[in-house]
Formats: sequence, structure tokens, C-alpha cells
Amino acid sequence: MTTFAELGLAPDILRALDDMGYVSPTPIQEQVIPLALQGGDILGAAQTGTGKTAAFALPLIQRLLPFANTSTSPAKHPIRALILTPTRELAIQVEESINAYCKHVPVRSLVVYGGVNINTQIPILKTGIEVLVATPGRLLDHVQNKTLSLNQVNTLVLDEADRMLDMGFMPDLKRIVALLPAQRVNMMFSATFPEEIRKLADSILSSPTFIEVARNTTAVTVTQVVHPVHHERKRQLLSHLIKSRDLSQVLVFTGTKLGCNRLANELNKLGLHADAIHGDKTQQERIKALDAFKAGTLRVLVATDVAARGIDIEALPFVVNYDLPHNAEDYVHRIGRTGRAGAKGEAISLVSESETRYLKDIEKLIGNPIEAVMVPGFEPGAADMPAYDARPPRGERRDRPERGERTERPARSERPERSESAPRSKPAASRDALFDAPYEPGSSQNDAPAPTPVRSGPRKPVAALFRSPPKPAGQ
Ligand code: AMP
Repeated sequence: MTTFAELGLAPDILRALDDMGYVSPTPIQEQVIPLALQGGDILGAAQTGTGKTAAFALPLIQRLLPFANTSTSPAKHPIRALILTPTRELAIQVEESINAYCKHVPVRSLVVYGGVNINTQIPILKTGIEVLVATPGRLLDHVQNKTLSLNQVNTLVLDEADRMLDMGFMPDLKRIVALLPAQRVNMMFSATFPEEIRKLADSILSSPTFIEVARNTTAVTVTQVVHPVHHERKRQLLSHLIKSRDLSQVLVFTGTKLGCNRLANELNKLGLHADAIHGDKTQQERIKALDAFKAGTLRVLVATDVAARGIDIEALPFVVNYDLPHNAEDYVHRIGRTGRAGAKGEAISLVSESETRYLKDIEKLIGNPIEAVMVPGFEPGAADMPAYDARPPRGERRDRPERGERTERPARSERPERSESAPRSKPAASRDALFDAPYEPGSSQNDAPAPTPVRSGPRKPVAALFRSPPKPAGQ
């Protein structure tokens, strides 16, 4: 087993790692750290959960040690390393990690991001810091206000470059890169490599070493399971799973901001303390929810993909895909929130009939089928369904996908209009009939106990689990 010391890290950095309980480097750290200590450019294919933050941050800090000093003069602390991230949450977490890695060295770091008053960031910048973690827009605000200078930056890190592209930051990135000294070390990390990312890499990196931690890798410590369920019963199933399995902390992903809010509200009504984070929430609201979740006072955090990006919560045991992502790689990102750094995790996906096509894409990407397990009382096809008006209440606007978020239009059988209690006039024998059954208020099945999930037996396509049973003759 390789040790951090063998990778060439300095004793004061090793001490900080020891304090944090890091025993040995992760695969990406093993590969990136020695190269980055030499000052080579790196293009890394890795996502959150692989330990990529330490992979770029530790060598970056070590290369700053010759400049590190305890002087209080701001002039002695120019910004030498710039780390750009797509979201505020990720920026905050990266800076928190850097701060911890710098515990025993006089390297100062700061995070700047939009959505909070810029004036609170200025006094700290004035005191001088060596490592700046920033979201692109806010960084440019500071540049424009002349509240920081980038002319001494010798290391640039672009974290989650594909997300920056998705979120429309490409023009900002180009402007920022143009402000940096040409002589510098560059590291760029991305989970995916579409054409534009490759072009960006070409324009920024110089003869980079490509380091890959397989993009379709889901941690071996994560158990994955699919529960086939009628879309209108998802909320009940989720609440049932949380209660019956006594899940203490769950991160739940929804496809849209409105869906996110509504699910959190509904779970609260069912007695489960839940909060929502998505792109329409203010920074303060997001931080508050995240802090409560981290502190363990919030049981369920419902999030959209964009808001959840970069969330780093130690040993998160359960991730639920309430809606399956339409993009298979988002699935890998989502479940990367659990089973980190060797901890055990479980990724539970609630899959309705129309989502089986997304499931196929996911299984293709990860190269394995995911086990489908029926939860008794929630098998698709059960005739009774709880009330679940998927429409926004009167006057409430419909959901818009988040910036950079893929459109999450529900599939035909899941559109709100269909979930009204009035059954459609349609031949009962149709396969769709299973999904159109009217709700019967007060049905004893609404909160039916379903203690043990039932394995679906020999693997068959999940779509097949939604087929209606053959009709008795004469109907
Ligand atoms: P990251 O992929 O950088 O977001 O890191 C994921 C999580 O793993 C963070 O909570 C890190 O603090 C933790 N971590 C990173 N490297 C190690 C390591 N070598 N040993 C233990 N935990 C680690």
C-alpha cells in the first residue's frame, strides 16, 4: 500500500492528513500527486468522490511552501493559485479541504462566490491570500472592481470543467484565463469530455498528462438497487422506505426544482424532516439546509443535480433517485455522494415505467444490470394508488429546469394531467390501465406496511416488471 509520504509530500502536510484521518492515497491521488509536484500539466478524468480535491490541492499547497510566510503584509501574500469551480457549494467545500490541508503551514486560502454580498469578501482579500477558490462570475466581479489581482497566479485548477460548460461559464473562463500569467501550471478535471471540453483543454493545458479514474466507475462499496413503482406511488414508497428502514440521513434527487420543493413539503407533512436545495434557493437557504443536513438535524435533503453538485458529506449512507436522471452520467455523479472513501453506501432508485429507458442507458454506462427489487404493497400494477396531484397548486408557476440542468419533462404516462383522479376513458384491458387506476381515498393500502422488499428473482428487464398480468378470459 502506497503512503502519502512515498508520494513526496512534506511532513507538515502529512501531519494535516494524519489529523484528518487519511491513511492512504486514493488511486487518483497516487497518480496525480507525484506528477503535479513536478509541476506538470494534468488533465484528470475524475468526479467527486474519488479524492480529486486532495489530488490537486496537496501538490499545489506544497509548491507554495517556498513562498509561505507568516508576514502580515498583504503584499507578501499575492494570489498564487486559482481554483475555479462551477458552483458555490463545491467552491466552499474545496476551500474547506484546502484550509484543513494547510493546518500546519502558513498558506492562506479564501473562497469567493456569488449570491452573497461582495463587500464582505473584500476586506479578507485585502489581507492577502495565496490560494483563491472561486466561481467564475464572482471572480470577474472582483477583477472588474479591482479588488483582487491575478498577475502572480502560477497555478490554475479548473474543477468539474464539464459542469462549468453546462452552466454557461465558458466565456467567463476564457476571460479569466486571458488575465493569468502565461507561465503557470494547469490542472483540469472533468467527468466527461465533450468536444468543447477537449478544445478548452487544448487551449489551456500544455502537454498534459491524462489521468483517468474510469468515468463510469461507481464505488464498489455502493450497493445499487432499483424499486419498480408506479410514479404516483413514489412519495409513499419513499416515506415508507425511510420509516421502515429507519434511514437516519437520506439525500434524495429529483429532476426539477418544483418537484424538489413539493417533495420536501410532502415529506414534512408525512412527519419526515426534509428540506430542498435547488437553483432558485438563495445561497443562505442552501447553506442553511446543507449545514442542518451535515449536523444531522435534517433527515432528508431533497436536491436537484445542479444544487447537489459538489456536495460533500462524510459517510452519507443513502442516496435515493426519486426521479431517474435522463443522462446516465448524472446517475454516476449522484450515487458518488455515497460510499465515499471506503464507507458503505446504498443507492436506491425508484423507477416508474416510463423511466425504464433511462435505466437501460444507466446500466449500459456502468456495464452492469442493477438489481430490481419489488417492495410489497408498492408493486407497479397495484390497483389502488394514493392521491398525488402532480400539478402545481393554482397560481403556482410550473417548474423550469435549472440552468444547465437537462429538461426533466415527465414522460407521457407521468404528465400531471394524467394523475387526476378522474379515470380516462380508455379500454380497461390496455396495458396503460395499470397506470391510470383512480385513487381511492382512505384505501388501507396507502400506508400499507411492506416490511421486506422482495427480490425480483432471476434478472429480467425492469420494463417487464411493469406489464399487467394477463386478463382472465371473458373480460
Ligand atoms: P473528493 O472526491 O475530493 O470530493 O473527496 C471525497 C471525500 O473523500 C472527501 O470527504 C475527502 O475528505 C475524502 N478523502 C479524500 N482523499 C481521502 C483519503 N486519501 N483518505 C480518506 N478520505 C479521503
